[in-house]
Amino acid sequence: MADKLAWRAERQNAADAQSGAGDTTRRGVIGSGIAIRDVVKAYGIFRAADEVSLDIEPGEFITLLGPSGSGKTTLLNLIAGFQRLDEGEILVDGKPVHDVPTHKRGFGMVFQSYALFPNMTVAQNVAFPLRMAGIDRATADRRVAETLEMMRLSEHAGKMPSQMSGGQQQRVAIARSIVLRPKVVLMDEPLSALDRRLRESIQIEIRQLHQTLGSTILFVTHDQGEALTMSDRIAVMDAGKIIQIGTPTEIYRHPKDRFVASFVGESNLIEAEVVQKRGNTMTLKNRAGYVFSAESRDAIDVGRATVLVRPERIAISATPVPNSIPATVTSALFLGEIVRIEAELEGGETLLIRCTDMAGRPLPAVGDSLHVSWNAEDCWVLS
Ligand code: ATP
Repeated sequence: MADKLAWRAERQNAADAQSGAGDTTRRGVIGSGIAIRDVVKAYGIFRAADEVSLDIEPGEFITLLGPSGSGKTTLLNLIAGFQRLDEGEILVDGKPVHDVPTHKRGFGMVFQSYALFPNMTVAQNVAFPLRMAGIDRATADRRVAETLEMMRLSEHAGKMPSQMSGGQQQRVAIARSIVLRPKVVLMDEPLSALDRRLRESIQIEIRQLHQTLGSTILFVTHDQGEALTMSDRIAVMDAGKIIQIGTPTEIYRHPKDRFVASFVGESNLIEAEVVQKRGNTMTLKNRAGYVFSAESRDAIDVGRATVLVRPERIAISATPVPNSIPATVTSALFLGEIVRIEAELEGGETLLIRCTDMAGRPLPAVGDSLHVSWNAEDCWVLS
Protein backbone atom coordinates (compact mmCIF):
# COMPACT_ATOMS: atom_id res chain seq x y z
CA MET A 1 0.00 0.00 0.00
CA ALA A 2 2.81 2.38 0.96
CA ASP A 3 4.48 1.47 -2.35
CA LYS A 4 1.42 2.41 -4.32
CA LEU A 5 0.98 5.68 -2.47
CA ALA A 6 4.63 6.53 -3.08
CA TRP A 7 4.21 5.68 -6.75
CA ARG A 8 1.08 7.83 -7.05
CA ALA A 9 2.83 10.74 -5.34
CA GLU A 10 5.86 10.40 -7.65
CA ARG A 11 3.64 10.20 -10.71
CA GLN A 12 1.64 13.24 -9.62
CA ASN A 13 4.86 15.18 -9.09
CA ALA A 14 6.06 14.17 -12.55
CA ALA A 15 2.72 15.16 -14.07
CA ASP A 16 2.75 18.50 -12.21
CA ALA A 17 6.28 19.16 -13.37
CA GLN A 18 5.25 18.36 -16.92
CA SER A 19 2.18 20.52 -16.95
CA GLY A 20 4.27 23.31 -15.49
CA ALA A 21 6.60 22.91 -18.43
CA GLY A 22 3.63 23.37 -20.77
CA ASP A 23 3.64 19.77 -21.98
CA THR A 24 0.24 18.98 -23.41
CA THR A 25 1.14 15.70 -25.11
CA ARG A 26 -0.26 13.38 -22.44
CA ARG A 27 -3.73 12.28 -23.43
CA GLY A 28 -4.79 10.82 -20.11
CA VAL A 29 -4.81 7.25 -18.91
CA ILE A 30 -6.34 4.67 -21.25
CA GLY A 31 -4.59 1.71 -19.67
CA SER A 32 -6.19 -1.27 -18.00
CA GLY A 33 -5.68 -2.32 -14.42
CA ILE A 34 -4.32 -5.86 -14.05
CA ALA A 35 -4.73 -7.95 -10.92
CA ILE A 36 -2.57 -11.05 -10.56
CA ARG A 37 -3.69 -13.22 -7.68
CA ASP A 38 -1.75 -16.17 -6.24
CA VAL A 39 -0.68 -17.32 -9.70
CA VAL A 40 1.17 -20.62 -10.03
CA LYS A 41 2.74 -22.04 -13.21
CA ALA A 42 4.42 -25.41 -12.67
CA TYR A 43 6.52 -27.68 -14.86
CA GLY A 44 6.36 -31.00 -13.01
CA ILE A 45 7.32 -30.18 -9.44
CA PHE A 46 9.21 -27.01 -10.49
CA ARG A 47 7.30 -23.77 -10.07
CA ALA A 48 8.29 -21.12 -12.64
CA ALA A 49 5.69 -18.79 -11.06
CA ASP A 50 5.16 -19.51 -7.41
CA GLU A 51 2.08 -17.87 -5.87
CA VAL A 52 2.68 -14.51 -7.52
CA SER A 53 0.37 -11.63 -6.64
CA LEU A 54 0.66 -8.17 -8.16
CA ASP A 55 -1.77 -5.27 -8.65
CA ILE A 56 -0.95 -3.11 -11.65
CA GLU A 57 -2.72 0.24 -11.78
CA PRO A 58 -4.30 1.57 -14.99
CA GLY A 59 -1.63 3.46 -16.93
CA GLU A 60 1.22 2.26 -14.77
CA PHE A 61 4.68 1.46 -16.18
CA ILE A 62 5.73 -1.59 -14.26
CA THR A 63 8.92 -3.58 -14.73
CA LEU A 64 9.57 -7.21 -13.86
CA LEU A 65 13.25 -7.31 -12.93
CA GLY A 66 15.21 -10.39 -11.99
CA PRO A 67 18.04 -12.71 -12.93
CA SER A 68 17.80 -15.24 -15.73
CA GLY A 69 15.29 -17.97 -14.89
CA SER A 70 13.50 -15.98 -12.17
CA GLY A 71 10.13 -16.29 -13.92
CA LYS A 72 9.70 -12.90 -15.61
CA THR A 73 8.83 -14.23 -19.07
CA THR A 74 6.61 -16.91 -17.55
CA LEU A 75 4.55 -14.24 -15.80
CA LEU A 76 4.39 -12.11 -18.95
CA ASN A 77 3.32 -15.13 -21.01
CA LEU A 78 0.57 -15.96 -18.53
CA ILE A 79 -0.74 -12.39 -18.77
CA ALA A 80 -0.50 -12.48 -22.57
CA GLY A 81 -2.30 -15.83 -22.69
CA PHE A 82 0.58 -17.73 -24.33
CA GLN A 83 0.50 -20.12 -21.39
CA ARG A 84 -2.24 -21.32 -19.07
CA LEU A 85 -1.85 -20.87 -15.36
CA ASP A 86 -2.20 -23.81 -12.99
CA GLU A 87 -3.55 -21.91 -9.99
CA GLY A 88 -4.73 -18.42 -9.14
CA GLU A 89 -6.30 -15.83 -11.42
CA ILE A 90 -5.51 -12.89 -13.66
CA LEU A 91 -8.08 -10.11 -13.96
CA VAL A 92 -7.95 -7.28 -16.50
CA ASP A 93 -10.16 -4.36 -15.53
CA GLY A 94 -11.77 -6.65 -13.00
CA LYS A 95 -12.61 -9.47 -15.47
CA PRO A 96 -10.90 -12.87 -15.52
CA VAL A 97 -9.06 -13.48 -18.80
CA HIS A 98 -8.26 -17.18 -18.46
CA ASP A 99 -10.57 -18.23 -21.25
CA VAL A 100 -9.80 -15.29 -23.53
CA PRO A 101 -7.34 -16.27 -26.29
CA THR A 102 -4.24 -14.13 -26.79
CA HIS A 103 -5.46 -12.37 -29.92
CA LYS A 104 -8.71 -11.36 -28.21
CA ARG A 105 -6.98 -9.84 -25.18
CA GLY A 106 -6.09 -6.80 -27.31
CA PHE A 107 -2.60 -6.32 -25.87
CA GLY A 108 0.31 -4.80 -27.78
CA MET A 109 3.46 -6.91 -27.62
CA VAL A 110 7.15 -6.34 -28.27
CA PHE A 111 9.83 -9.01 -28.00
CA GLN A 112 13.61 -9.09 -28.06
CA SER A 113 13.55 -10.27 -31.69
CA TYR A 114 11.77 -7.64 -33.76
CA ALA A 115 9.72 -10.24 -35.70
CA LEU A 116 8.92 -7.82 -38.55
CA PHE A 117 7.54 -9.15 -41.81
CA PRO A 118 10.60 -9.04 -44.10
CA ASN A 119 8.55 -8.72 -47.28
CA MET A 120 6.56 -5.68 -46.10
CA THR A 121 7.66 -2.05 -45.90
CA VAL A 122 7.88 -0.28 -42.56
CA ALA A 123 4.48 1.35 -43.14
CA GLN A 124 2.91 -1.99 -44.13
CA ASN A 125 4.35 -3.67 -41.03
CA VAL A 126 2.86 -0.98 -38.82
CA ALA A 127 -0.44 -1.11 -40.73
CA PHE A 128 -0.75 -4.89 -40.34
CA PRO A 129 -2.68 -4.95 -37.01
CA LEU A 130 -5.07 -2.30 -38.40
CA ARG A 131 -5.71 -4.47 -41.49
CA MET A 132 -6.36 -7.51 -39.30
CA ALA A 133 -8.79 -5.46 -37.20
CA GLY A 134 -10.67 -4.42 -40.37
CA ILE A 135 -10.04 -0.70 -39.90
CA ASP A 136 -10.96 1.30 -43.01
CA ARG A 137 -8.14 2.43 -45.29
CA ALA A 138 -8.35 6.19 -44.63
CA THR A 139 -8.37 5.78 -40.85
CA ALA A 140 -5.58 3.21 -41.06
CA ASP A 141 -3.38 5.48 -43.23
CA ARG A 142 -3.88 8.34 -40.79
CA ARG A 143 -3.12 6.15 -37.79
CA VAL A 144 0.01 4.68 -39.39
CA ALA A 145 1.32 8.17 -40.25
CA GLU A 146 0.63 9.37 -36.71
CA THR A 147 2.33 6.35 -35.15
CA LEU A 148 5.39 6.55 -37.40
CA GLU A 149 5.68 10.22 -36.48
CA MET A 150 5.49 9.33 -32.77
CA MET A 151 8.39 6.89 -33.18
CA ARG A 152 10.34 9.30 -35.45
CA LEU A 153 10.10 6.83 -38.32
CA SER A 154 8.17 8.88 -40.91
CA GLU A 155 11.13 9.20 -43.27
CA HIS A 156 11.60 5.40 -43.26
CA ALA A 157 7.99 4.53 -44.12
CA GLY A 158 8.81 3.07 -47.54
CA LYS A 159 11.91 1.07 -46.51
CA MET A 160 12.08 -2.68 -46.09
CA PRO A 161 13.16 -4.00 -42.64
CA SER A 162 16.46 -5.23 -44.13
CA GLN A 163 17.32 -1.61 -44.95
CA MET A 164 16.96 -0.56 -41.30
CA SER A 165 19.37 -0.77 -38.35
CA GLY A 166 18.56 -2.95 -35.31
CA GLY A 167 17.42 0.06 -33.29
CA GLN A 168 15.21 1.31 -36.12
CA GLN A 169 13.68 -2.15 -36.57
CA GLN A 170 12.87 -2.33 -32.88
CA ARG A 171 11.21 1.11 -33.12
CA VAL A 172 9.08 -0.26 -35.99
CA ALA A 173 8.14 -3.25 -33.80
CA ILE A 174 7.16 -0.84 -31.02
CA ALA A 175 5.15 1.29 -33.49
CA ARG A 176 3.34 -1.87 -34.65
CA SER A 177 2.55 -2.83 -31.05
CA ILE A 178 0.88 0.50 -30.29
CA VAL A 179 -0.85 1.27 -33.58
CA LEU A 180 -4.18 -0.04 -32.25
CA ARG A 181 -3.69 2.09 -29.11
CA PRO A 182 -3.89 -0.95 -26.82
CA LYS A 183 -4.78 -0.58 -23.19
CA VAL A 184 -1.88 -2.84 -22.25
CA VAL A 185 1.55 -3.20 -23.88
CA LEU A 186 3.74 -6.16 -22.90
CA MET A 187 7.46 -5.78 -23.62
CA ASP A 188 9.84 -8.72 -23.11
CA GLU A 189 13.48 -7.56 -23.05
CA PRO A 190 12.86 -5.36 -26.12
CA LEU A 191 16.21 -3.57 -25.90
CA SER A 192 18.58 -6.34 -24.93
CA ALA A 193 19.87 -6.92 -28.49
CA LEU A 194 20.86 -3.26 -28.86
CA ASP A 195 24.08 -1.52 -27.85
CA ARG A 196 24.15 0.68 -24.75
CA ARG A 197 23.74 4.10 -26.40
CA LEU A 198 20.87 2.95 -28.54
CA ARG A 199 19.25 1.28 -25.56
CA GLU A 200 19.41 4.51 -23.60
CA SER A 201 17.86 6.58 -26.37
CA ILE A 202 15.03 4.07 -26.98
CA GLN A 203 14.43 3.87 -23.21
CA ILE A 204 13.67 7.59 -23.28
CA GLU A 205 11.41 7.15 -26.33
CA ILE A 206 9.44 4.36 -24.65
CA ARG A 207 9.06 6.50 -21.54
CA GLN A 208 7.75 9.42 -23.61
CA LEU A 209 5.47 7.10 -25.52
CA HIS A 210 4.03 5.88 -22.24
CA GLN A 211 3.36 9.46 -21.20
CA THR A 212 1.66 10.19 -24.51
CA LEU A 213 -0.45 7.05 -24.79
CA GLY A 214 -1.35 6.44 -21.16
CA SER A 215 -1.36 2.65 -21.76
CA THR A 216 -0.39 0.25 -19.02
CA ILE A 217 3.09 -1.06 -19.81
CA LEU A 218 4.53 -4.26 -18.40
CA PHE A 219 8.23 -4.39 -19.20
CA VAL A 220 10.58 -7.31 -18.60
CA THR A 221 14.31 -6.84 -18.13
CA HIS A 222 17.27 -8.27 -16.23
CA ASP A 223 19.03 -4.88 -16.51
CA GLN A 224 18.64 -3.05 -13.22
CA GLY A 225 19.70 0.32 -14.71
CA GLU A 226 16.98 0.04 -17.31
CA ALA A 227 14.40 -0.82 -14.65
CA LEU A 228 15.42 2.13 -12.44
CA THR A 229 15.29 4.61 -15.36
CA MET A 230 12.00 3.61 -16.88
CA SER A 231 9.56 2.32 -14.32
CA ASP A 232 6.84 3.77 -12.12
CA ARG A 233 7.31 0.65 -10.02
CA ILE A 234 9.62 -2.34 -10.16
CA ALA A 235 8.75 -5.89 -9.13
CA VAL A 236 11.97 -7.71 -8.28
CA MET A 237 11.67 -11.45 -8.96
CA ASP A 238 13.71 -14.45 -7.88
CA ALA A 239 12.94 -18.17 -8.15
CA GLY A 240 9.39 -17.62 -9.39
CA LYS A 241 8.43 -15.18 -6.63
CA ILE A 242 8.14 -11.41 -6.34
CA ILE A 243 10.60 -10.51 -3.61
CA GLN A 244 9.85 -6.78 -3.45
CA ILE A 245 7.70 -4.29 -5.28
CA GLY A 246 8.27 -0.56 -5.05
CA THR A 247 9.21 2.66 -6.80
CA PRO A 248 12.75 2.82 -8.19
CA THR A 249 13.88 5.04 -5.31
CA GLU A 250 12.39 2.67 -2.74
CA ILE A 251 13.95 -0.39 -4.29
CA TYR A 252 17.35 1.31 -4.53
CA ARG A 253 17.40 3.02 -1.15
CA HIS A 254 15.40 0.59 0.93
CA PRO A 255 15.82 -2.92 -0.47
CA LYS A 256 14.05 -5.58 1.49
CA ASP A 257 16.87 -8.08 1.76
CA ARG A 258 20.38 -9.04 0.63
CA PHE A 259 19.15 -10.35 -2.71
CA VAL A 260 17.45 -7.09 -3.75
CA ALA A 261 20.29 -4.97 -2.31
CA SER A 262 22.87 -6.88 -4.33
CA PHE A 263 20.85 -7.24 -7.53
CA VAL A 264 19.88 -3.57 -7.82
CA GLY A 265 22.87 -1.24 -7.87
CA GLU A 266 26.28 -1.66 -6.27
CA SER A 267 26.11 -2.41 -2.60
CA ASN A 268 28.28 -2.58 0.49
CA LEU A 269 26.91 -5.00 3.06
CA ILE A 270 28.31 -4.71 6.57
CA GLU A 271 27.75 -7.17 9.39
CA ALA A 272 27.03 -5.36 12.64
CA GLU A 273 25.13 -5.52 15.90
CA VAL A 274 22.14 -3.34 16.73
CA VAL A 275 22.82 -1.95 20.19
CA GLN A 276 20.05 0.62 20.43
CA LYS A 277 16.81 1.53 18.67
CA ARG A 278 15.07 4.89 18.72
CA GLY A 279 12.09 4.94 16.35
CA ASN A 280 13.47 4.12 12.90
CA THR A 281 17.03 5.06 13.81
CA MET A 282 19.40 2.41 15.10
CA THR A 283 22.80 2.58 16.71
CA LEU A 284 25.05 -0.25 15.60
CA LYS A 285 28.56 -1.52 16.25
CA ASN A 286 30.68 -3.14 13.58
CA ARG A 287 32.84 -6.18 14.32
CA ALA A 288 35.71 -4.03 15.58
CA GLY A 289 33.36 -2.16 17.94
CA TYR A 290 33.05 1.11 15.98
CA VAL A 291 29.67 2.76 16.42
CA PHE A 292 27.54 4.17 13.59
CA SER A 293 23.88 4.94 12.86
CA ALA A 294 21.45 3.47 10.36
CA GLU A 295 17.74 3.48 9.57
CA SER A 296 15.08 0.87 9.11
CA ARG A 297 11.34 0.86 8.74
CA ASP A 298 10.82 -2.73 9.75
CA ALA A 299 10.71 -4.08 13.27
CA ILE A 300 14.39 -4.93 13.72
CA ASP A 301 15.42 -6.56 16.97
CA VAL A 302 18.49 -5.70 18.96
CA GLY A 303 21.20 -8.17 17.89
CA ARG A 304 23.01 -9.15 14.70
CA ALA A 305 22.11 -7.33 11.50
CA THR A 306 23.33 -6.64 7.97
CA VAL A 307 23.35 -3.04 6.78
CA LEU A 308 23.59 -1.60 3.30
CA VAL A 309 25.54 1.52 2.33
CA ARG A 310 25.70 2.53 -1.34
CA PRO A 311 29.21 3.40 -2.61
CA GLU A 312 28.25 6.99 -3.49
CA ARG A 313 26.90 7.70 0.03
CA ILE A 314 30.20 7.09 1.82
CA ALA A 315 32.31 10.09 2.85
CA ILE A 316 36.05 9.78 3.43
CA SER A 317 38.26 11.92 5.60
CA ALA A 318 41.92 11.89 6.65
CA THR A 319 41.05 12.29 10.33
CA PRO A 320 38.25 10.73 12.42
CA VAL A 321 34.82 12.41 12.41
CA PRO A 322 31.84 11.40 14.61
CA ASN A 323 30.65 7.85 13.84
CA SER A 324 33.48 7.16 11.39
CA ILE A 325 35.32 3.86 11.00
CA PRO A 326 39.02 3.57 10.17
CA ALA A 327 39.85 1.84 6.90
CA THR A 328 42.88 1.05 4.75
CA VAL A 329 42.90 1.75 1.02
CA THR A 330 43.38 -1.42 -1.06
CA SER A 331 42.74 0.15 -4.47
CA ALA A 332 42.14 3.62 -5.90
CA LEU A 333 41.22 4.36 -9.50
CA PHE A 334 40.79 7.76 -11.10
CA LEU A 335 37.90 7.39 -13.57
CA GLY A 336 37.59 11.03 -14.64
CA GLU A 337 34.38 12.34 -13.12
CA ILE A 338 34.65 9.99 -10.14
CA VAL A 339 37.27 8.23 -8.06
CA ARG A 340 36.64 4.58 -7.25
CA ILE A 341 38.23 3.45 -4.01
CA GLU A 342 38.26 0.10 -2.25
CA ALA A 343 39.08 0.22 1.43
CA GLU A 344 39.18 -2.50 4.08
CA LEU A 345 37.29 -1.58 7.21
CA GLU A 346 38.80 -2.17 10.57
CA GLY A 347 36.65 -5.13 11.55
CA GLY A 348 36.46 -6.88 8.23
CA GLU A 349 34.57 -5.90 5.09
CA THR A 350 36.06 -4.25 2.04
CA LEU A 351 33.96 -1.27 1.00
CA LEU A 352 33.55 0.16 -2.47
CA ILE A 353 33.49 3.96 -2.39
CA ARG A 354 32.66 6.34 -5.22
CA CYS A 355 33.69 9.96 -4.64
CA THR A 356 33.11 12.91 -6.90
CA ASP A 357 34.58 15.59 -4.71
CA MET A 358 38.30 15.01 -5.03
CA ALA A 359 39.23 18.37 -6.54
CA GLY A 360 42.39 19.71 -4.95
CA ARG A 361 42.90 16.53 -2.94
CA PRO A 362 45.54 14.00 -3.87
CA LEU A 363 44.33 10.58 -4.98
CA PRO A 364 44.52 8.12 -2.05
CA ALA A 365 47.26 5.51 -2.45
CA VAL A 366 47.14 1.81 -1.64
CA GLY A 367 47.99 1.38 2.05
CA ASP A 368 46.75 4.87 3.07
CA SER A 369 44.68 5.09 6.23
CA LEU A 370 41.41 7.00 6.07
CA HIS A 371 38.11 7.25 7.90
CA VAL A 372 34.76 6.39 6.32
CA SER A 373 31.42 7.68 7.48
CA TRP A 374 27.81 8.12 6.30
CA ASN A 375 24.57 9.71 7.40
CA ALA A 376 22.11 7.50 9.25
CA GLU A 377 19.55 7.90 6.42
CA ASP A 378 22.08 6.56 3.90
CA CYS A 379 22.62 3.34 5.83
CA TRP A 380 19.79 0.80 5.66
CA VAL A 381 19.28 -2.16 7.96
CA LEU A 382 18.17 -5.17 5.90
CA SER A 383 15.43 -7.42 7.19
P1 ATP B 1 15.44 -14.92 -18.78
O1 ATP B 1 15.81 -13.56 -18.26
O2 ATP B 1 16.62 -15.82 -18.96
O3 ATP B 1 14.53 -14.88 -19.99
P2 ATP B 1 13.14 -15.41 -17.04
O4 ATP B 1 13.22 -14.74 -15.71
O5 ATP B 1 12.27 -14.77 -18.06
O6 ATP B 1 14.61 -15.67 -17.59
P3 ATP B 1 11.51 -17.74 -17.46
O7 ATP B 1 11.72 -17.83 -18.93
O8 ATP B 1 10.20 -17.25 -17.00
O9 ATP B 1 12.68 -16.90 -16.76
O10 ATP B 1 11.76 -19.19 -16.84
C1 ATP B 1 11.60 -19.44 -15.46
C2 ATP B 1 11.99 -20.86 -15.16
O11 ATP B 1 11.04 -21.75 -15.76
C3 ATP B 1 13.35 -21.26 -15.75
O12 ATP B 1 14.03 -22.04 -14.79
C4 ATP B 1 13.00 -22.08 -16.98
O13 ATP B 1 14.00 -23.05 -17.24
C5 ATP B 1 11.70 -22.72 -16.57
N1 ATP B 1 10.84 -23.00 -17.74
C6 ATP B 1 10.33 -22.10 -18.60
N2 ATP B 1 9.61 -22.71 -19.56
C7 ATP B 1 9.67 -24.04 -19.31
C8 ATP B 1 9.13 -25.22 -19.93
N3 ATP B 1 8.36 -25.13 -21.01
N4 ATP B 1 9.41 -26.39 -19.37
C9 ATP B 1 10.17 -26.51 -18.26
N5 ATP B 1 10.70 -25.45 -17.62
C10 ATP B 1 10.46 -24.23 -18.13
